[in-house]
Amino acid sequence: MSIADNLKQYKSEVESDGVTLVAVSKTQPVESILEAYEAGQRVFGENLVQEMVDKAAELPKDIEWHLIGHLQTNKVKYIAPFVKLIHGVDSLKLLQEINKQALKNKRVIDCLLQVYIADEDTKFGLGFDEVVELLRAEEFSQLENIRIVGLMGIATNTKNEKQISVEFNELKVFFDGIKVSFFRKDEAFKEISMGMSADYKLAIEEGSTMVRIGSSIFGKRVIKHFKPNISAN
Ligand SMILES: *Cc1c(COP(=O)(O)O)cnc(C)c1O
Repeated sequence: MSIADNLKQYKSEVESDGVTLVAVSKTQPVESILEAYEAGQRVFGENLVQEMVDKAAELPKDIEWHLIGHLQTNKVKYIAPFVKLIHGVDSLKLLQEINKQALKNKRVIDCLLQVYIADEDTKFGLGFDEVVELLRAEEFSQLENIRIVGLMGIATNTKNEKQISVEFNELKVFFDGIKVSFFRKDEAFKEISMGMSADYKLAIEEGSTMVRIGSSIFGKRVIKHFKPNISAN
């Protein structure tokens, strides 16, 4: 199946559940992104700052770019002018930098707090207690140019579907608690970004509002497929 066919199939499947599809285009060339764009996709996810900046410069301006990978504070400035949503925020320090760069660009940047749900050492993210601590911090309440619109999580990379569902469920239950405690009157706090190619169905069953699907749409990632012409950093 072509990229356009895959895209249409996943888009209609997840949207029928009211879930947003983030087409993860990391490592894919601009031609492939354009094919998905022409098939109707507008939301794309990238995990590297420079790659996202370069692609955004070359591609249509109505694309919503989501940064889904780990973000270093010193690179926030490159994406601050245009990024639509930052999925992987995992420290107050990073939020403060996003706030600073958003202010410089006279905008408010939407962010998701990445929560650690996997049974693995390698994943980034905040523990449940750290999320609460961050939201209670005096410094957090002063940030006017960021908006927390929800939570994001990555389940353990395992074939054990029961375990994956339990992890997604933990994130959903935690989200509900955070919503009541901190965002009761805030309609913008509504997103749970969870689910990738291998586990998006389980994620949707457990309450995901946003799935990040890459290889099932674009095919296997080719290492270093994308070669930027311009250098952002
Ligand atoms: C690469 C990536 C995805 C997409 O993974 P696929 O298995 O290709 O669907 C989703 N989320 C994050 C954070 C990623 O880095």
